[in-house]
Amino acid sequence: MPYYLNDSNQNLEIYDDMTGLYKIGAFFLASEKLYRSNTEIKYAMLQIDIYHFKIINEVCGVEKANKLLLYIADLIKKCVGTQGVGTHLRADVFGMCIPFQQKEELVEVISKLLKQISEYTTNCNVLPAIGVCIIDDISLEPHLYFDRTSIALQKVKGNTLKKYAFYMEEDKRKLVTEIKIQSAMEDALRQGEFKIFIQPKVNIRTGEIIGGEALVRWEHKKEGLLRPDEFIPIFEKNGFIIKLDEYVWERVFQVMQGWLNKGIQPVPISVNISRVNVCDSNFAKKLVSLVRIYKVKPKLVPLELTESAFLENTNNIYDFMKRLQVCGFVFSMDDYGSGYSSINMLKNIAVDEVKLDQLFLKEETLSERTRIVLKYSLDMLKELNTKVIVEGVETKEQVEFLKSCNCNYAQGYYFYKPMPIEEFEKLVYRQDI
Ligand code: C2E
Ligand code: CA
Ligand code: CA
Repeated sequence: MPYYLNDSNQNLEIYDDMTGLYKIGAFFLASEKLYRSNTEIKYAMLQIDIYHFKIINEVCGVEKANKLLLYIADLIKKCVGTQGVGTHLRADVFGMCIPFQQKEELVEVISKLLKQISEYTTNCNVLPAIGVCIIDDISLEPHLYFDRTSIALQKVKGNTLKKYAFYMEEDKRKLVTEIKIQSAMEDALRQGEFKIFIQPKVNIRTGEIIGGEALVRWEHKKEGLLRPDEFIPIFEKNGFIIKLDEYVWERVFQVMQGWLNKGIQPVPISVNISRVNVCDSNFAKKLVSLVRIYKVKPKLVPLELTESAFLENTNNIYDFMKRLQVCGFVFSMDDYGSGYSSINMLKNIAVDEVKLDQLFLKEETLSERTRIVLKYSLDMLKELNTKVIVEGVETKEQVEFLKSCNCNYAQGYYFYKPMPIEEFEKLVYRQDI
């Protein structure tokens, strides 16, 4: 190694047997020494990771996989030269601490390294990813910087176009929020902080409310009202969405039962099914047991399944849809047109309703091209005898256009925003209660 901790310290604890790079502890000591003693120079910490390295191990064999690791180690040694330090942390994870002058120059170094690693020929594609953190406060410990490279790496994982990412301050804020949300969620559920709002679905010709969609809100004790996009993606990652969705479904069944007991003939209130639920084997059972407990007809609680769930779990989805359809549940394909699976899925699966994604309407004035896409999508769905609800309708112009396409149903702020259950009840059943 070009940069030594100090000559008397060279023993087996310092170097990785296989690659001759520093072990992580020695790497931290050496990095710290570098950036704390050369304060006029800028440094960056990098973490290099190979996707699916285990598969390379399986398919190409350990010997070839090890050769790949030695190849990467060599590139890292060249890259750090005499001015930086490198480490082999474990299997396919490497690290570097290198000097740089301009960020562009650093990006060039990273791009070159990525290119060289990808060019290595094995039977498998070698897909490297790099997380980068600029060392901007020399009083911080090197392991903190290395943790930040892991956070940056998370942003690249699963992204085929982006192979490196820089750690940003906002990443930390996001992480802190995520941790706060995770630590508060169980209590919040127990203490009833999750509230259900209902957004009406409307017949655009008559103005009649033909149903509603249950949308969850979190009345957080400290943070105030949180929108679903601030917590649902986190719950989808950590699995809590299964509990939350169950809670929402149960509340909707309770509300329905309450209306029925008052002699009201309720309109259907749909619930959202997270794609995580589709993988849960108990999912169908839970819904069926709610029908039994609350004695509410399943068609009064349509199930909205987002389009991407159809793509990700095609086999599972057929099974559980059939099981639930036999019991009387109806399905709505949510966010239709937001992914690339839609048309194919329509060919294979009978859904009762399709909700056209609001992205179609996200233009101030509808362009000619959007109008054509919308018109023909609506025509096709009509021919398939599928009821269509257009989401995100916000303007009169949009309503007029939809009418001209023979579209009858919509959901959007132009008509109503999501509202508390009591408000929905007053709005729809004023005369009945
Ligand atoms: P979604 O299912 O597509 O729900 C429609 C979203 O669009 C709602 O946002 C609604 O408030 C919003 N919206 C409706 N009309 C308009 C409009 O005219 N303009 C604009 N800009 N927005 C409109 P919300 O309530 O923030 O929900 C966001 C997403 O969170 C939902 O998208 C759904 O995917 C998810 N979500 C909400 N509640 C639940 C739940 O209980 N369980 C699960 N799994 N997901 C939920
Ligand atoms: Ca929905
Ligand atoms: Ca939607």
